[in-house]
Amino acid sequence: MQATQPVEDTFTGASLELKDLSMAYGDFKVVRHMSLAVAPGTTTCIIGPSGSGKSTVLRGINRLHEPASGDVLLDGKSVLTLKPDLLRMRIGMVFQHFNLFPDHTALDNVALAPWKVKGLSKHDARSIARECLAEVGLAERSEHRPHDLSGGQQQRVAIARALAMNPAVMLFDEATSALDPELVNGVLNLMADLCRRGMTMVVVTHEMGFARRVADQVVFMDEGEVVEAGPPAQMFDAPQSPRLQRFLSEVL
Ligand code: ADP
Ligand code: MG
Repeated sequence: MQATQPVEDTFTGASLELKDLSMAYGDFKVVRHMSLAVAPGTTTCIIGPSGSGKSTVLRGINRLHEPASGDVLLDGKSVLTLKPDLLRMRIGMVFQHFNLFPDHTALDNVALAPWKVKGLSKHDARSIARECLAEVGLAERSEHRPHDLSGGQQQRVAIARALAMNPAVMLFDEATSALDPELVNGVLNLMADLCRRGMTMVVVTHEMGFARRVADQVVFMDEGEVVEAGPPAQMFDAPQSPRLQRFLSEVL
């Protein structure tokens, strides 16, 4: 990406495929034989009770935690063959607790990876960062540090930080769970906008309204397994498995 090029209106999302993916912490198996296909430019929402392995799946996709077995294909190519730095340029991740650097301005939080990881000049990294902050509606806040921003603004900085690496896939792990209720919709609308523009997204969320409105497919996990998956209308209006029925009766 040229530094002077405007941030694209549309994204070229990659395909993502989980093949028989298993994840463990030591001997403790937390994700068992998960297979999932995510078409380019589509959004998959993963729902399920706490402790069911949702975060661990995301951590396997970008190898923050190495898979125990199975594979993840990004545009048909195993992520296990990519260097982690390169992989994380192609797959952006947004966390529940933002994980911004507290001593850096919003601008520097966004510019850091393009500068340090991608190797752009500081000047070019900052001009990309400015574009990305403008894109998430925070052009006016670029010199603020995280503690001077609301939670919703901090999360939008975190999204801008991921976008600055020009990713082909974005992972969101309960991106709105730590936000005050009145700030949730601003972030969800930004995520829906990325989806509309063709980003490939895997979104772990408790926001069932968002999943119903935005997802191309919804995946319900329980105890490390995919219990049921399908289009949102089917999952929410005609759930098949008793476990999904029970989960929805508790959260809806
Ligand atoms: P979810 O995101 O659905 O709440 P997680 O993927 O965070 O679930 O966790 C799945 C299981 O793995 C849980 O039983 C959790 O306690 C366990 N777990 C998560 N992280 C670790 C870790 N770093 N070490 C050991 N066990 C973990
Ligand atoms: Mg989690």
